[in-house]
Amino acid sequence: MTSIIRLQNLLAIVILIVLNACKQTPESIHEKESIDNPVVAIVIHGGAGSITQSSLSVERELAYKQKLEEAINLGYSILEDGGSAGDAVEQTIKLLEDSPLFNAGKGAVFNSNGENELDASFMDGKTMNSGAVTGVKHIKNPIVAARRVMDSCKHVMLSGVGAEQFAEEQQLEIVDNKYFFTQDRYEGLINVKSREESEKEIYQKDEKRGTVGAVAIDKDGNIVAGTSTGGLTNKKYGRIGDSPIIGAGTYANNKTCGVSCTGVGEYFIRTLAAHDVSALMEYKGLSLEDAIKTVIDKIGTMGGDGGMIGLDSHGNVAWYFNTSGMFRGYKSSKQGTEVQLYGN
Ligand code: ASP
Repeated sequence: MTSIIRLQNLLAIVILIVLNACKQTPESIHEKESIDNPVVAIVIHGGAGSITQSSLSVERELAYKQKLEEAINLGYSILEDGGSAGDAVEQTIKLLEDSPLFNAGKGAVFNSNGENELDASFMDGKTMNSGAVTGVKHIKNPIVAARRVMDSCKHVMLSGVGAEQFAEEQQLEIVDNKYFFTQDRYEGLINVKSREESEKEIYQKDEKRGTVGAVAIDKDGNIVAGTSTGGLTNKKYGRIGDSPIIGAGTYANNKTCGVSCTGVGEYFIRTLAAHDVSALMEYKGLSLEDAIKTVIDKIGTMGGDGGMIGLDSHGNVAWYFNTSGMFRGYKSSKQGTEVQLYGN
């Protein structure tokens, strides 16, 4: 009799063990899915502002579309080959910095002194490490310098000549400030200066901007975000915008999302816009889409304009802007490809 009871107990234990092994929580199912078939994606922007079909010639529209496509294809190919989100973001932004079409690197706008002062930042959502350079005039690719600050410097942000000295020590490419001259941006400065008497605003509503940013998620689920800019046309010498400020223009956290912003930096600094998106997701449970919209709408009520791109920890892409257009695009193993210039 006792041996039968023992046998029954043993059987019950074995059944329990087997049942437990088969049991999967929704989370573990998701983890398995993402290990078997990880989502890789990259989303980019090339600035928000007065971007309408009537303001762009057919040739220029095509040029923007082609460059945005080239950029997402480059970033995506790195991710598809198993590369890191960090490499995808750095290489994609570098490509946009080398194009005169965007207000970053080669195509940077002019400050009120007729010089180009560039800002960039980079953040890794796994480690929460970050790096930034601000007010640099001779670093050809500020995004490369920002990442290098993150990887090879004990500080988060370096400015001006110090940042340039660091870049030189790191053997990054140094150029004369004249390298950043483009006729188009110079005319933009002359144009803004001629209106300055009547308009005391920190920015012109009808200005075409062109800051660049990228956010990527790689096969390991790591999210990285970066932003690079020449700032605002006719900005006061020494002015620092949101783009090099972690939490304002750029933010990444594997738990929530990665975000890159574009717009009138002063408003994005006051609202800590990029971090606010992550905080709304983490503390209030908002989706990325709702969080981005909440923050941009808040900026709108304060009188600022701009937009954001981002992706969440499941690789879902989102963007939103309160200007007439925003150069933008994404390529994702889950959502396909899209490139857009104007509002919907
Ligand atoms: N956010 C940039 C700045 O204020 C400009 C832009 O994104 O257009 O410097």
